[in-house]
Amino acid sequence: MTDRKSRIWSEVDLAATGKQVGFLHLPYSVTRSGYGHINIPIAVISGGGPGTALLTGGNHGDEFEGQIALARLIRDLRPEDVPGRVIIIPALNFPAAMASTRVSPIDQGNLNRAFPGDPDATPTWQIAHYIDSVLLPQSDLWVDIHSGGTSMQYLPFAHIYLTGDDPELDARSDSLLLSFGSPRSVRVTFRPDSRFAASTAHRRRVAYLGTELGGGGGVNREGVEIARAGCLRALHGAGILRDLSPYGVSKAVPTEFFEWAGNENYVYAEHPGVFEPHVGLGEPVTAGQPCGTIHFIEDPRRESIQLTFQRPGTVACLRHPGRVEPGDCVSHTVIPLGAA
Ligand code: CA
Repeated sequence: MTDRKSRIWSEVDLAATGKQVGFLHLPYSVTRSGYGHINIPIAVISGGGPGTALLTGGNHGDEFEGQIALARLIRDLRPEDVPGRVIIIPALNFPAAMASTRVSPIDQGNLNRAFPGDPDATPTWQIAHYIDSVLLPQSDLWVDIHSGGTSMQYLPFAHIYLTGDDPELDARSDSLLLSFGSPRSVRVTFRPDSRFAASTAHRRRVAYLGTELGGGGGVNREGVEIARAGCLRALHGAGILRDLSPYGVSKAVPTEFFEWAGNENYVYAEHPGVFEPHVGLGEPVTAGQPCGTIHFIEDPRRESIQLTFQRPGTVACLRHPGRVEPGDCVSHTVIPLGAA
């Protein structure tokens, strides 16, 4: 399946040196535009030397910190500072980014559930396939900037996925986490969904770093700067960027470490209602501690229902909208491991 050729073509030459900004062209033939394309912005900045970093934002269209930070990096990065190669796509699922939605309005595709993609399917799966089959085989590392989107708020952090069975890849992922230098660094120890970007990167043995930098469908100021500075530090750490000082970024940043473990760290709504949180992002919680209350506004006689954390941890994520349905995640925690 992944051997089939992508129909997406790049107007920028991925192999050329210097700085090029242009578009990927995804053929999209519809009633209003029979020979139409979806044009996805891409930049390549290269000195022709070893090392390639892929930087992406807008994997989910309603997560804006990466879209902002990477568009700025395209404008700011000077080719004379880049001995290696940087490929930047600030709005990866472009139709979703233009609609400010998690999934694409064209095909309802969730790009981060679409890897390794399909060149013959609808646009979201074609984008996934282009990343997997064209860009990852020529990349050493991938920084994919996410945040909480419309439905969640996140304590800003960067994260990597540890495979547990590929020590060489895990070491490269960990050094990417350290060089990115987010104030909070999370090591994920559950096995990611095989359709995640992280999984497709690992199948290609590319070091992958993700982030969660805010949410609620808005823009987190701290998150934008974590994304910008982190990407620059990751490039510098890999020898792709010569010097951080022209960009006003310091090399060393103190970080707190956390583990992101499995489902027992998640709290879900089981009834439709309105969720009132009893904790804030970054707060330490104990097992059995109340997470929040589901209220039944339509019947004031009905008792509210309390939801509790099953495990101790630090609150990393809270649902953003008040109204919940059964099956909605209202919070999850990460496990503090200490500072460095
Ligand atoms: Ca996301």
